[in-house]
Amino acid sequence: MKIYCNTFTEHRSLPSSNKGRRHTKTTLALAKHPKTAQISLILFTNQAPTGKKYIISNNIQQIMTKFANKGKFTIRFKVPDVDLFVEGDPMDLTKFLQYLHKMLTNKTIEETCSLAVVDTKPKSRRLKISSRADYPKNGLPDYLEELYYNIGKFDITNKVIRLTRLRLLDLSHNGIKNVPKELNRLPNLGTLNLSHNLLGLGDNSSNWLCENFTNTLHTLNLSNNELKSLPRAISKLRHLHTLDLSRNSLTSLPSGIASLKELKKLSLSNNKLQSLPGRMMRMNLAELDVSDNNFSNAICESVPRNWSFSRITSLKELAAKVVIKSRVPYPPGSIPYTLIRYLDGVEFCTCDKPIFENFARITVGRSYRANLRNVSTNVTVSNNEDLRVPLDLLVCSQKCLSHCR
Ligand SMILES: [Zn+2]
Repeated sequence: MKIYCNTFTEHRSLPSSNKGRRHTKTTLALAKHPKTAQISLILFTNQAPTGKKYIISNNIQQIMTKFANKGKFTIRFKVPDVDLFVEGDPMDLTKFLQYLHKMLTNKTIEETCSLAVVDTKPKSRRLKISSRADYPKNGLPDYLEELYYNIGKFDITNKVIRLTRLRLLDLSHNGIKNVPKELNRLPNLGTLNLSHNLLGLGDNSSNWLCENFTNTLHTLNLSNNELKSLPRAISKLRHLHTLDLSRNSLTSLPSGIASLKELKKLSLSNNKLQSLPGRMMRMNLAELDVSDNNFSNAICESVPRNWSFSRITSLKELAAKVVIKSRVPYPPGSIPYTLIRYLDGVEFCTCDKPIFENFARITVGRSYRANLRNVSTNVTVSNNEDLRVPLDLLVCSQKCLSHCR
């Protein structure tokens, strides 16, 4: 058993000097002598590459583990009269202490020191908080990997963003109107549940849909939020696998949803959709639920025959197209903020070209309806509805328009 950590040794008989206390990078190993069964702790450092050995058997006065959860513990040896301060990854340290405890409580070793202070219970990395009373007295443990916080109000953003190991965050049932953008600082967050909130009543900002989330988020639940539209920046979540948008008031979807190449499960049930973006027909989903929408009430519009596209493209549009074409990520600060906002509003033509201002929109009628079987292996529709839905097509040029007619 060995761990990588930082250590500092202090002789109790020597005058203590906190000023010069500097921890050293150490490989800490536990070893058992094959013949004598004596257990030793060996510290390998740059200064002592062959290892500095401390006998453990019958030689520990105390192990101080009060801050083991914070990644610190101290071993007080009898001989020499040394205190060994250890700092490292809380999980590594806990494992190490458990292993040490196991070795010391072995029947063949008569250990005189009390190890009652060693907390060897495995720590639960999941925490459910349904009321204020459930909140831990010592704060949220930093080893948490799953947090369910559903008390009707979310006001602990600053505490949550310190939980860097968090993989799942459930913030459903909290009355959230605006998602705190700080949440995207969580470096490992894969699953975010924001269902049963009030995002549709907020400022509809998509600030939170950026940076880390685009790399880590694979499951997003935005159901039951009174959403009337979906932030177009949703198309940035390129690793999204599961997206639940059910039970909202969505009347249309941004065409960028079809850019989510890894998306497999999409629920759009119980909305007010009259059509689906034409680009969605290129998607390859495993499960698609479009039940309880307004497809049968779609008003099919067509653009006039003499529709003309502007030949002059704005500089902003040209700059945005270059950014998209180069496929370079654009974190805040890398390009002007106005350009980032502009890029967040991107739509796509049926030919896959990005379009911003200069485009025509058509909802194509019954004869063009696309079969959802071509989009997803499993499709759920309402009773009496067929698998073909009207399509919302965006076109960038006269040429693409003539393809749609
Ligand atoms: Zn086009």
